[in-house]
Amino acid sequence: MRKHLVLVGGGHAHMVTLANLHKFIEKGHKVTVVAPSPYHYYSGMGPGMLGRTYTPDDIRFFTQHVVEKQGGTFILGKAVGVDPKKKKLILESGETVSYDIVSFNVGSYVPESSITGSARDVFTVKPIEKLIDAQARILELASRKEITIDIVGGGPSAAEIAGNAWRLTQNYGKYTSRIRIFAGKDFMSRFPVDVQKKVSGSLKRRGIEILESGYVDKIKTGEIILETGEGYHADIIFLAVGVKPLPLFEKSHLPTGPDGGLLVNQYLQCSQYPEIFGGGDCIYFKNQPLDKVGVYAVRENPVLYHNLMALIEGKALQPFDPGGDYLLIFNMGDGTGVLRKRRLTFGGRLAFKIKDYIDRKFMNTFKQIEKK
Ligand SMILES: Cc1cc2nc3c(=O)[nH]c(=O)nc-3n(C[C@H](O)[C@H](O)[C@H](O)COP(=O)(O)OP(=O)(O)OC[C@H]3O[C@@H](n4cnc5c(N)ncnc54)[C@H](O)[C@@H]3O)c2cc1C
Repeated sequence: MRKHLVLVGGGHAHMVTLANLHKFIEKGHKVTVVAPSPYHYYSGMGPGMLGRTYTPDDIRFFTQHVVEKQGGTFILGKAVGVDPKKKKLILESGETVSYDIVSFNVGSYVPESSITGSARDVFTVKPIEKLIDAQARILELASRKEITIDIVGGGPSAAEIAGNAWRLTQNYGKYTSRIRIFAGKDFMSRFPVDVQKKVSGSLKRRGIEILESGYVDKIKTGEIILETGEGYHADIIFLAVGVKPLPLFEKSHLPTGPDGGLLVNQYLQCSQYPEIFGGGDCIYFKNQPLDKVGVYAVRENPVLYHNLMALIEGKALQPFDPGGDYLLIFNMGDGTGVLRKRRLTFGGRLAFKIKDYIDRKFMNTFKQIEKK
């Protein structure tokens, strides 16, 4: 029987399914993809795009084109809810999309609760495409005066954004910039001490300041106010605080984990509604909570593809094994990186070269699908 498969979001965990959409269509099924942008941006290269190591085109995948050329339907829009009993997806436009099987890969967002009032020149680090606007604005301001760029957040994305904002103004700005990271109380605290030292050493050597005297309370146009009441002027503010899954699952009364992510079993499937699947940052994997890193989304790809096809064809589902420790390399923005895998940590040019090689290879694999 002809089924309607709906993919919500063309994120990292849907890449293999997107590459194989024609296989569903050849079997007589209908496929629709809903996404808020015709492109999907690869976050691993996002900070590098901010610093102009990469162009926007280097780091994006043309989702709409890949869907349409295989005979699928692409809807430019945002999912805001699901009616699991009626098997309907609700879009921001008010439109609904009926499905037989639906898979979510809608990623995560940066909470903006600290923003009060108007917030001009404040940029969240997700969606990644916002970094294109941030880059243009930094260059515009840095062509007129010395500017202050502040990054709120104490993790790797704050470090990468700071390092690459430095690269941008250093190489392409007329005036230099002052860059500060408002890291709360403990910069890079999730990581071993040798990683913390290498990352902060790399930033501090270039004059990037790391403030660990307290948490940010409020952000508004041109100003950051700490919980202590201390205020700081800023020309550009990046919000790089921890990400959260979109609220759409909780709002739809679907089973969710403690972070609000769609609760999925070992098959990346919602146990209560077996026709609902998910992958990437938007899920809560019941067997073991997973870090919100692209690595897991990428590892989930083949299982998600297999299981969507298997459910349609009445075949056995495959369990997802998250695998062991993963390789992390941070792009420090000065041509160096900091690499961590199990107990191995090192920094320098080689670390960045490895990251650059892996990231370009990943993107090339998917860019080939655009050309086929
Ligand atoms: C600056 C930065 C750098 C990072 N670097 C790394 C790194 O080097 N390595 C690493 O492993 N992890 C990295 N991460 C973490 C990584 O971004 C995430 O873990 C990864 O993006 C998760 O992939 P995803 O496909 O779930 O989500 P996303 O990459 O966010 O993709 C979600 C997709 O869903 C679409 N979408 C969003 N909302 C909706 C909606 N309502 N309806 C329909 N579609 C929607 C979006 O357009 C997007 O295409 C980084 C994160 C940041 C912020």
